Amino acid sequence: MLKLFKRKPGGLSCGEVMEVLQSYLDGEIDAETAGKVTSHLDLCVDCDLEAGVYDRIRSSLATRTEPVDAGVLRSLESFSERLMNGEIDTNGVDND
Ligand SMILES: [Zn+2]
Repeated sequence: MLKLFKRKPGGLSCGEVMEVLQSYLDGEIDAETAGKVTSHLDLCVDCDLEAGVYDRIRSSLATRTEPVDAGVLRSLESFSERLMNGEIDTNGVDND
């Protein structure tokens, strides 16, 4: 039992953790599994490192999102207004 526990920290094997790691970081798995993953990461250096890498990638992607420029926002607004008014052919084909 102790051997098994050592092999499966938190009740999950490393393979199982890797399978759900992405969803775990996205908060898309159930609380019970998330709890198991959390305890696995506490006990397993390899998976903890792996999770750290994923997390860094995710946060670097998140910080790359620049604040929307006011001018871009305005032209986007007028574009959707024209779209609503039927001024823009959404088929992309001009037939007049
Ligand atoms: Zn592991």
